Amino acid sequence: MTVQCYLVKTTYEYKVAQFHTQIKNEIGLITNNYSDIDSTLISKKEALYKSLSENYIKGKNTKLDVKSSVLQAQYQNAITQKLQHKFERDLPNFKIDFAIVLNKFILYKNTQKADTIFSEKPFIQNKLYGNLASLNHAFLVRSYVRTTNGTFENQDYKLLTEDSMYVSVIDWEMIILKRMTFILVLSLFSIITLISLFVIAIKALIKQKKVSDVKTDFINNITHELKTPLATLGISTKILEQKNIRDNDENFNSIVNTISRQNNRLQNLIDQVMANSLAENEIELKKEKIETEDFLLSIVNDFKITFPKINLKTDFQTQKTILVLDKFHLTTAFLNVLENAVKYGSNSITVKTKIIENQFSITFEDDGIGIAKNKQSFLFEKFYRVEQGNLHNTKGLGLGLYYVNQIVKAHQGSVSVISDLGKGTQFTILLKV
Ligand code: ADP
Repeated sequence: MTVQCYLVKTTYEYKVAQFHTQIKNEIGLITNNYSDIDSTLISKKEALYKSLSENYIKGKNTKLDVKSSVLQAQYQNAITQKLQHKFERDLPNFKIDFAIVLNKFILYKNTQKADTIFSEKPFIQNKLYGNLASLNHAFLVRSYVRTTNGTFENQDYKLLTEDSMYVSVIDWEMIILKRMTFILVLSLFSIITLISLFVIAIKALIKQKKVSDVKTDFINNITHELKTPLATLGISTKILEQKNIRDNDENFNSIVNTISRQNNRLQNLIDQVMANSLAENEIELKKEKIETEDFLLSIVNDFKITFPKINLKTDFQTQKTILVLDKFHLTTAFLNVLENAVKYGSNSITVKTKIIENQFSITFEDDGIGIAKNKQSFLFEKFYRVEQGNLHNTKGLGLGLYYVNQIVKAHQGSVSVISDLGKGTQFTILLKV
């Protein structure tokens, strides 16, 4: 971007210089000297200069008198208008303001020192002709030096005058900008491309960082999850090695039960990881027509047996709704939501059904720890876990709700969450009727 800005700036300066040269050349072609403007006016001017010089030489007037007479000559307005007309006619594309200022008025006596009546830098107060009020935004077109020779009574004297023409083109910035349009558009385009590439790169970087964080989290979680059943299995086998335990039926059975439970848990974990490694369109649903309320009730009843201490209620406002669903996947999904409710501190859960805008809605309402508003949009992302979940020492892989969302989406449905931290959570699943 710095290079671009530098290039644009350099081009601008170059174009300004080029523009000035063009104007200088064109004006040079129009007025090679002022005498071709109007010779009678010019001879009037020469006569004035001559009489002023002669009077000065004779000591009849001072330097100041000469200067003020030169600058207040009567023919000046007429010459200004003539020049203006000439510019308008010959340079119709530009609106030009100009000023011709007198810099030097010097009398020479042949071999002796010059007598400078005045010699100043170009200065708008010394304007001879023109309509410019200031030289600030004007540029020098040319300087013009003239010497008159032999016209004075006293032949030794010569008069040297120097004047400069300054020009300002109205709206010159616009003219230059127009000439730079192509460069400006190209630069803007390349700057926009650059910014876009930068934004894309940063976004990709952030995304990659997020993916890598998620992976690290997942690996930590799964190691944590695998450790407990493996440790229990290790201890159980150690215990079984003791003969007195093997001889006691009750102890033996209890250890075998533990081994089987831990085995199931490991199996479940592996199943969960396997199931979630499939993308949404790879999930193969085996749909069948089922009575949804019955189906929900059977899940609720099974859940009550597993978690007898949880107060699990139903509030069905629909009856015998027949939907085409995949029983196996949806059972796992609903159980994920119910198990989450228990995992995240609920004592009572209500399962509600109703019809909302032609959709079958199933709501799981719990009184658990709730979820902060700013975390809710991430809940259904793969491997996402609210940090607070770790604080409460609850285990999980962050796959439960991701799976729910995938399965419901595969049924062309949607999942949403309403929750407040500390006030419980409501998950609503909408299915097509
Ligand atoms: P996890 O294996 O961590 O339970 P989930 O995908 O099932 O993964 O849930 C994602 C996160 O959502 C959890 O870590 C938890 O913080 C939050 N969460 C899910 N269900 C509930 C709930 N009923 N109450 C409070 N927080 C919940």
